[in-house]
Amino acid sequence: MNLANIKLLKKIKILYVEDEIGIQTVTAEAFSNIFHTVTSASDGVEALEYFNGDIDYDIIVTDINMPRMNGIELIKKVRDIDALLPITITTAHTEIEFLRDAINLNVNGYTFKPINMVTLINTIAQAAEARILKKELEEINNGLVYQLKEKTFELNSILNAQDSLVVVSSGEVLHSANKAFLDFLDKDSIEQCNNDIENIFSIFQKEEGYFYADDFSKIDDITRISQNKDKDIFVKIKSKNNSFNIFKLSITTYEFNGMHYVITLTNITKLKEQSNLLEYQATHDSLTKLANRQKFNSDFTTELNRFSRYGNNLTLVMFDIDFFKSINDDYGHDIGDVVLVNLSSLVNNMIRETDLLARWGGEEFMILLPETSIEKSFDFVEKVRLSIQNAVLSEVLKSPITCSFGITQAKENDTQDTILKRIDLALYEAKNSGRNKTIKK
Ligand code: GH3
Ligand code: MG
Ligand code: MG
Repeated sequence: MNLANIKLLKKIKILYVEDEIGIQTVTAEAFSNIFHTVTSASDGVEALEYFNGDIDYDIIVTDINMPRMNGIELIKKVRDIDALLPITITTAHTEIEFLRDAINLNVNGYTFKPINMVTLINTIAQAAEARILKKELEEINNGLVYQLKEKTFELNSILNAQDSLVVVSSGEVLHSANKAFLDFLDKDSIEQCNNDIENIFSIFQKEEGYFYADDFSKIDDITRISQNKDKDIFVKIKSKNNSFNIFKLSITTYEFNGMHYVITLTNITKLKEQSNLLEYQATHDSLTKLANRQKFNSDFTTELNRFSRYGNNLTLVMFDIDFFKSINDDYGHDIGDVVLVNLSSLVNNMIRETDLLARWGGEEFMILLPETSIEKSFDFVEKVRLSIQNAVLSEVLKSPITCSFGITQAKENDTQDTILKRIDLALYEAKNSGRNKTIKK
């Protein structure tokens, strides 16, 4: 018997049935040193009780001639429950007709009495070997399945903890997606996604500034671009509540039974809103919501450059509320604020889309009028001036609010400075010559 077989013996659980107590004790004693578990029973009835108990026996070794229930009856009953359980019998030469019955009941081996221990153990080992190996394979397999389940569970937990939407695709088919992806699109399963979605690109909105592709073959382009890492790719996706969200798209690939794409979509909608808000705050006046001085200067630079290059008309208007200090003094600062707000919106509603009205500071304003001659601007400004004068900017005011205006047009060789100096002068002249008027320079 080789080492592998000895190892095998150490795994075998035996139910040993023998009514002759002397033989039973001696044999069981020998068995217990060799096998994993040995349970002794004195007849078929007792053996059946053990067999139906907790231990999963690998083999039954039974005598035939026994009181209450003999070996043949026992084997029949066991075969009804487990048709394949290894069974060997120990029998006397005189019981040869029983042996025939036993063989008909598919016993796996037999040993004649008086028992030769080596023969018996060899018979047991041969009979039980296949079952032990099968059990071991099942254990290994269960272990692997368990490990795989455990790993899958871990990976899913990681993926599901992500805020980013993650989906794996091999082209037209989506293979798996994390919870964030399913939730965002209001899908129950990846199967539902595949039913409803043509391919991953079809959920992207076609819009200027955002990535969009008609078909999946374009994915190679994206992979190339995203490996480049220089340029962020943004996509827009409609959520289950029909709002559009902006995502940064990244794609990584792996090869396993063909090319797979791991598509990660990071929601940057809030970030984008915040940066829009920050940009808005940096360029707008919080009281009047008009463009602030920084925004005006930046637009002014742009327009002046355009003027230098193409020589198009560019007119600038500066105006200042007359005697505003006394509004604050007479009605309070809050009413002063209301006047500033209402006046801003009045003028803002009169300018064109391409014009810019900005709060220059305090109660001073600027209007940038591209593509407009000074004559046309003058007519327009006069309309504005009269509108202000006729407007009710606050119910509490006892007399109308008026403003003084200076206008100038960009000329050759002008710089921002020379224009601003000229317009200051124009406004100064309007103030000094009686206010509520428009002066061209
Ligand atoms: P003028 O006709 O010469 O322009 O006289 P004015 O009183 O309008 O000019 P002045 O520069 O003496 O006063 C401007 C006033 O505008 C003083 C300042 O308190 C007020 N002011 C500036 N910004 C605000 C603001 O945001 N809210 C309010 N309520 N008042 C402001
Ligand atoms: Mg003023
Ligand atoms: Mg002023």
